[in-house]
Amino acid sequence: MDNPPTYIGRLAPSPTGLLHLGHARTFWIAQQRAQAAGGQLLLRNDDLDQPRCKPEFAEAFVEDLSWLGLKWWHPILRQNIRLPIYQEALAQLHAAGRIYPCRRSRKELIAAAATAPHENGVRDEPIFPPEWRPAASETPPNIEDHLDCNWRFRVPDGTTVSFPDQAQGPQWAVAGRDFGDFLVWRRDGLPSYQLACAVDDGLMGITEVVRGEDLIKSTFRQILLLRALNHSRPAYYHAPLMTDADGQRLAKRHGAVSLRELREQGHKPAELIAGFETHA
Ligand code: GLU
Repeated sequence: MDNPPTYIGRLAPSPTGLLHLGHARTFWIAQQRAQAAGGQLLLRNDDLDQPRCKPEFAEAFVEDLSWLGLKWWHPILRQNIRLPIYQEALAQLHAAGRIYPCRRSRKELIAAAATAPHENGVRDEPIFPPEWRPAASETPPNIEDHLDCNWRFRVPDGTTVSFPDQAQGPQWAVAGRDFGDFLVWRRDGLPSYQLACAVDDGLMGITEVVRGEDLIKSTFRQILLLRALNHSRPAYYHAPLMTDADGQRLAKRHGAVSLRELREQGHKPAELIAGFETHA
């Protein structure tokens, strides 16, 4: 049997809309890095967020990414069918005393936290007021009967979390100051993005995560979760985001042109890739 590759990367689109040029560039960088390291890419369908996720968008990204020339290991992984795995990770965090149930609404949180930290043009979650936490000595209720409520991860206040970003150099943030207790489980019975992503990156043995720089703040949270779950941490490469002619970052909600439209207009993959190379 062949030895498993020493580099395992992943492409992790959410099927909430059509991919645009910014996604294509990040995924193309992921492929370049995997190839350079003699490694492989997994394709993970981040389809937890119902009802925003639609199967037709998953079909579309498979088609669009293949058109662009990207290759991945089969089968495609779906987060949607991994709920028991996320629940087990939640139970592990619970057993380690790292999480607590939270009945505060998002509205209350936004009203209490005057400003949400703002970085790289990305508004982050407001910092959860520490006075709303239960005392660390308080035993939280069992998980099984409380999967219909929000659970938060108690961040180690004052601890500096750092990592060397392969694209942007050293990164660090102080827990409790730059980000607060964050959601790991949602009262609709689903893991948060942070938990699902950390669990998958850990269990799938991902060695490098390539994604947009808008997710740098998430990385600090995911590193804390990976540690708490005893997984080793991947390396990270946060690609600078693409902007349009007005300097606005490309986003579906601002009507960024989709790969599909570009293809329908007759553009060829090689042409798009040549553009990524000159702006890389
Ligand atoms: N699915 C997430 C998104 O499209 C990205 C997850 C990740 O790369 O960690 O924003």
